[in-house]
Amino acid sequence: MIYKTDYHMHSTYSDGRSLPDDYILPAINAGISEIGFSEHLTLFKEQEDWNMNPVNINPYIHHLENLRDTVKEIKIRIGLEVDYFEGKEKEIYDFLHPFPLDYVIGSVHYLGEKTVDLGPEFYEGKSIDRLFESYFESMITAVSSGLFDIIGHCDLIRIYGYKPSVDLEPLYRKLAKAMKMSDVAFEVNTNGRNRPLADFYPDRRFLHVFREENVPVCVNSDAHMPARVGQYFDEAYELLRYVGFTEMAVFEKRVRRMVHF
Ligand SMILES: [Zn+2]
Ligand SMILES: [Zn+2]
Repeated sequence: MIYKTDYHMHSTYSDGRSLPDDYILPAINAGISEIGFSEHLTLFKEQEDWNMNPVNINPYIHHLENLRDTVKEIKIRIGLEVDYFEGKEKEIYDFLHPFPLDYVIGSVHYLGEKTVDLGPEFYEGKSIDRLFESYFESMITAVSSGLFDIIGHCDLIRIYGYKPSVDLEPLYRKLAKAMKMSDVAFEVNTNGRNRPLADFYPDRRFLHVFREENVPVCVNSDAHMPARVGQYFDEAYELLRYVGFTEMAVFEKRVRRMVHF
């Protein structure tokens, strides 16, 4: 049996539909060995309904610690999905430092004042080539910041299916090299299948780039409801195996190990 982890999960502590407790049984049934929660934490922006109020971090961690003490059939990991903002590295580091997290997922949702996944209107009247470049630039700075263990949906900018006119391989290559250099894992995020894109992140055409650059990988569902824990994982693992991956990254107390799958 494949050792599966699912580290990207949203409960009612941010924009998920259910309490963490409700994800446990579906995860066990999906053959997941480690389930990790990663609520949205977005500092430096106005509080939105999709992100966790920072005052709830301690209750969130205590909730998961209690759950971890009572549930023995599956390992429970405690994480966050943190928005990266260039120039705010020290503040993000100082904020996260005190919390006993197993991993931190770094994500870029904002380009400027708006999030790239808010709606297709974000893209209207803009240069798609330029948007992709900016998104990757931001990703590379996020990766190189040393703040994160995993990078979330590294090409979220594909969400509405807009396609640039240029070859993107050099951007993926640059990102993959930065990840390897900073020891950051990428995720195959299967939730892209449920979004307008209707496919995983990252673009499967460029998965070989991550393999060639030897970047550690995780498979994550980014589930916002229990029914989606471990969704499309068999396909994702098959895809990874096809590209040549044989190991995946697992995290505990912000230390990475590699496990064969
Ligand atoms: Zn995200
Ligand atoms: Zn997420």
